[in-house]
Amino acid sequence: MSDLLRVTGLVKHFDARRGVFGRMLGNPGILVQAVNGVDLNIGAGKTLGLIGESGCGKSTLGRALLRLHEPTSGEISFDGTDITTLDATALKAMRQRMQIIFQDPYASLNPRRTVGEIVAKPLQIHKLASGSELKDRVVSILNRVGLNSSHLNRYPHQFSGGQRQRIGIARALIMNPKFVVCDEPVSALDVSIQAQIIELLDDLKQELGLTYLFISHDISVIGYVSDRIAVMYMGKIVEEGETSEVLENPMHPYTKALLSSVPHLEKSTTRRDRIRLKGDLPSPINPPKGCKFHTRCPLAIDICRQKEPALELLNGTQSAACHLTSADGPKGGV
Ligand code: SF4
Repeated sequence: MSDLLRVTGLVKHFDARRGVFGRMLGNPGILVQAVNGVDLNIGAGKTLGLIGESGCGKSTLGRALLRLHEPTSGEISFDGTDITTLDATALKAMRQRMQIIFQDPYASLNPRRTVGEIVAKPLQIHKLASGSELKDRVVSILNRVGLNSSHLNRYPHQFSGGQRQRIGIARALIMNPKFVVCDEPVSALDVSIQAQIIELLDDLKQELGLTYLFISHDISVIGYVSDRIAVMYMGKIVEEGETSEVLENPMHPYTKALLSSVPHLEKSTTRRDRIRLKGDLPSPINPPKGCKFHTRCPLAIDICRQKEPALELLNGTQSAACHLTSADGPKGGV
């Protein structure tokens, strides 16, 4: 199956002088290096799971793919069109096909608007429906996500967390998109509700032929929903492969540490000893030289502090960025 999304060398740096954080620093020329040269492809109808700790840049990457954050450099090809060069009018048209579901359903819904108004808004902005057709389409998508017409005139605060996320999903899907960034869509929900929303997203993917970038810090969730997994650390992809490959045969020490923190994964039969990472994620304002993981990696050697490893294809479908990996598999036995 062909790729719907192709990303090449994507960089997103923020100017730290802007905003409260920047004014506190008061130092011109400081950049927050949120995304640092990402290459990835997502096949049509597939889910790429993007995993990494909070602050690794995965949400920034998701937003940059839709140009909600303007990329600093790099190319994003969506269905054969380079969207990084589109002007505002063309981008607005393209956005009908690329949508996002946010982590916090409550914060992302306007508390002063009814559910009917919230879900109808994208169609109104793009002038795609009005009157009875608009109402029919809103009710139809509400039904599809497990709500109904009796909810049209209620406000977000009258719903549970799971129902609010269903409203967020309805708002994203009413435009009939092909590609959806699911940005930690279940992280704010109770575990029992998480399962319902994940099942709903999976059903919608099959039924509507959707392609997802599914972002989460929870490897259990990523392992369950993904066709392929990309592991992100300090703005870079450090490992990428088929879900079963990454879960059964992780090659990067960071991936191994993430997997070791989960006692049992749905798609993995392998049990691992716990690897505890030392320290916190380094600052994206002043990232370590060489391999960005070297300050926490139990296998770091001299070259790791001097030279950044490239993301290399190791076995045909699985890539990793580590000086200690090779086509024969990882050396060093983390
Ligand atoms: Fe660890 Fe070195 Fe591999 Fe980086 S390159 S993950 S520091 S062994």
